[in-house]
Amino acid sequence: MLNLVAGDWKGTGVALAWAALRAGQAALDAIEQGIRAVESNPDDCSVGLGGLPNLVGEVELDGAVMDGRTRAAGAVGNLRGYAHPVSIARAIMEKLPHVMLVGAGAARFADEIGAERAELLTEDSYRQWQAWLGKNGVDAANLGHMPLARAAWAAMDPQHAGGTTVYLAQDAAGNIAAATSTSGCAWKYPGRLGDTPVVGAGLYADNRYGAAACTGIGELAIRTSLARSTVLYMKMGMSVEEAVHEAMDDMASLPDWRAGGLTLYAIDAAGGHCTVGAYKDDRDDSPRYHVAAGDQSQPVERDVTRLDV
Ligand code: ASP
Repeated sequence: MLNLVAGDWKGTGVALAWAALRAGQAALDAIEQGIRAVESNPDDCSVGLGGLPNLVGEVELDGAVMDGRTRAAGAVGNLRGYAHPVSIARAIMEKLPHVMLVGAGAARFADEIGAERAELLTEDSYRQWQAWLGKNGVDAANLGHMPLARAAWAAMDPQHAGGTTVYLAQDAAGNIAAATSTSGCAWKYPGRLGDTPVVGAGLYADNRYGAAACTGIGELAIRTSLARSTVLYMKMGMSVEEAVHEAMDDMASLPDWRAGGLTLYAIDAAGGHCTVGAYKDDRDDSPRYHVAAGDQSQPVERDVTRLDV
């Protein structure tokens, strides 16, 4: 059954991905198109063009894809200067005997496949970075040589704007796929990878059971193998709702002050879905997600189910 769940906070690519699924395209093709649209949107400050930079002002992108038919996966991390990490991740999956490339090697491969280059730091993201440095008393002139560890802790505010773009889909042939793309936590330590390019943590897809993906504090998803755990709980007989809640309980049990900053999205192989976000009490907004299933003509936007931690 056709199914699409997207954590795409501006909804940039959802209509495109859903139209592609309705036109009979494969799940992976549809979600790649959706995410490419988000990566090109400068108004989405947590992914692609306009994504917020790391502590020293460089935009570092992470992305991944997983094909639930074969459990083949591709991932790219710490990628600078290219417009579409999701497509580079897919090319890694399809053209290399590897799953993940990072940094200089990823850029080399991106050139090798003729991937589109882009200046990702926009005026607005530059201004936000400068404002953050000013507010936290960091002198931009010293960034080249000063220790950054303290500033990296200051940047890990769970309430801080973040948000990976995640797409999960099942196509007319019953195939399931997952894809992710992000500029990561704003003001991160240079070279930091979150969960987004880590298969098993940030995303997982298996045609037999379903797929899952995460947004939020990636360190928490890595430490709990969150996406893979969710699919494994489904394999062990849980419904998609039970599996998501079980996995979120694992995450919330981490003795970590950030344990209230993560959203988990999942679909099952029968067309169901569940999304749950964990929040500290003082946060009153709920993130939204987009969903479409069966013969629905357009995706609809809904509140993520809130889990207070
Ligand atoms: N999960 C992403 C990361 O940790 C960021 C986010 O979704 O806010 O890099």
